Amino acid sequence: MGRFLDGKAAVITGSTSGIGLGYARALAAEGCAILLNGFGDAAEIQSSRSALENDFGVTAIYHGADMRKPDEIKAMIDAADDAFGKVDILINNAGMQHRAPMEAFPLEVWNDMFAVNVTSAMLAIQHVLPQMKARDWGRIINTASVNSQITSPNTSGYTASKHAVMGLTKAVALETIMTGVTCNAICPGTVRTNFSEHRIDTFAKERGRDKEEIIDQFLEQKMPYHQAFKRFITVEEIAAAAVYLCSDAGAAMRGAAFTIDGGWTIR
Ligand code: NAD
Repeated sequence: MGRFLDGKAAVITGSTSGIGLGYARALAAEGCAILLNGFGDAAEIQSSRSALENDFGVTAIYHGADMRKPDEIKAMIDAADDAFGKVDILINNAGMQHRAPMEAFPLEVWNDMFAVNVTSAMLAIQHVLPQMKARDWGRIINTASVNSQITSPNTSGYTASKHAVMGLTKAVALETIMTGVTCNAICPGTVRTNFSEHRIDTFAKERGRDKEEIIDQFLEQKMPYHQAFKRFITVEEIAAAAVYLCSDAGAAMRGAAFTIDGGWTIR
């Protein structure tokens, strides 16, 4: 039996680990060819890439473009075009975080964060939009965050950049509204990846406690006081949203914030 993304090709930025790799595996399971991107250990990246091919029988390539560098972003899309002949699905997922009080927020970090979290998405969209419009089919998904809607102390750069991702998502969705190209954002709550691991480390250190002992306390600050849901969101739960957005059933989703946060933002 055919899979619904057989013959389609996706570029997923920041997909060498965490949520991005989750998207890659979920789309590959539906038959989609994948371009992986991101930093990391070369042997681990190679093993993630070949696992996609072996587990799902799809073509998977890797491009190490640095999302702070416009030329490399262009080269990454060109590499996908060369390998697959097209890009049907673009997931802008690479991201960085830095915590500092507003008055001490370093400009270089702010600029890097906007380059990776926002500008790289804008550039990648610019590169793929003409061909998506020409085929009248495309799926653009931006990984935003609960920080696209709310904030917490010392996250000015991240919050501002993720609000900008949401704005970009809405603008692109409106400009493509008369086409078969959709653009949406997925807004995860706390998923246990390299990204959040660092934050949990700091949270534990600040309290002089062992990391695993403070997990409940860490989650409690984010989730409503609903004991049953005191857990991390899984990569698979996030990736399933991307699969839905790529399906025909997702065609009417336009400029939406697909929030999956265990109720964090409804408080
Ligand atoms: P992660 O650290 O596992 O993944 C981040 C990915 O981005 C990695 O592949 C990394 O190599 C890549 N990356 C970072 N800088 C890059 C650059 N300059 N060029 C190319 N690639 C780069 O963490 P994750 O949690 O999977 O993060 C993925 C996305 O999810 C990010 O946009 C993050 O903001 C968002 N997010 C994460 C959480 C969470 O709780 N983990 C919550 C909300 C949103």
